[in-house]
Amino acid sequence: MRINILLFLLFMSLIGFSQNGKLTGKLILKDVENYKSVSENTFVILKAGKRIDSVKVNHDLSFVFNNLGTDTLRIFISPRTYLTNIIYNLCLKENEIKHIEIPYASVCPYSEGKGNICPVCKKNDKVIPIVYGFTMKIKYRDKNGNLTDKNGKIISKEEDEKVTSKQGGCVITDCQPNWFCQLDNIDF
Ligand SMILES: [Zn+2]
Repeated sequence: MRINILLFLLFMSLIGFSQNGKLTGKLILKDVENYKSVSENTFVILKAGKRIDSVKVNHDLSFVFNNLGTDTLRIFISPRTYLTNIIYNLCLKENEIKHIEIPYASVCPYSEGKGNICPVCKKNDKVIPIVYGFTMKIKYRDKNGNLTDKNGKIISKEEDEKVTSKQGGCVITDCQPNWFCQLDNIDF
C-alpha cells in the first residue's frame, strides 16, 4: 500500500515536471555549393540551463529537439557560421512547439584571392581597399606651403581630399572584406 502511494507521488511529480516542449528548425544555407559537406558535418547545439544537447542536422538540414521545459534556449551551430558566430536565444512556454530557420554560411564569403573586381558592377574603377587597424592620413607640403604627394609633387586640393581607402575599423577577424565599391556601396 505504502509503495502504491510512493509510486503515485512519483507519477504526479513526473507530470508536474513534464517537459513536452519541442524545437524544430532548419539551416538556410548560403553557400549552397557546400550542401553535401554541411549536411554531413554540421551540428546544432542547444543549451538550456545546465542541459546541453547537440544533434547532427538531417539531410535536408533540418533538426529537432524534444522534451524541452519552459526555459531560455541558446542555440548555435558547429562549425560556426560566417561572418561571425551567432548565438540565438529563444524562450519556450510550457509544451510549446517552436520552429526556427537559421541562416548559415559554412565559409567566409570574402577572399583576397578573388581580386578587386566588384561583384555588382563587375568593374574596379570605383573600388578602393579597406584598411584595418589604426591609420592616419599624413599631409605633405613643400617649403612654399603647397600640398604635395609624398614624393614632393604638387597636388590639388581635390586630389588631396580624394578618398583612396575605407577605414575598416580596429577589430580584425578571420573573415572580413578587402575591397569597397564606391559606386555600389558594398564591401567584398
Ligand atoms: Zn561596383
